[in-house]
Amino acid sequence: MEFREIYCSNCKKILGRYNIKFYDDDKIKELINSAHSTHVRSGHQVNIRKYEKTK
Ligand SMILES: [Zn+2]
Repeated sequence: MEFREIYCSNCKKILGRYNIKFYDDDKIKELINSAHSTHVRSGHQVNIRKYEKTK
């Protein structure tokens, strides 16, 4: 299963992990601008990383 991980380099933490089956890149960007907008507005570096679960 493949996931997209939203990571904030300033807070050094994972903000969320989303299954690419349900969340495409546009949806992830939407989430960054809605659910995680506090980080973006604070000028934090929010990155999208690939995450693979081997199970
Ligand atoms: Zn942050």
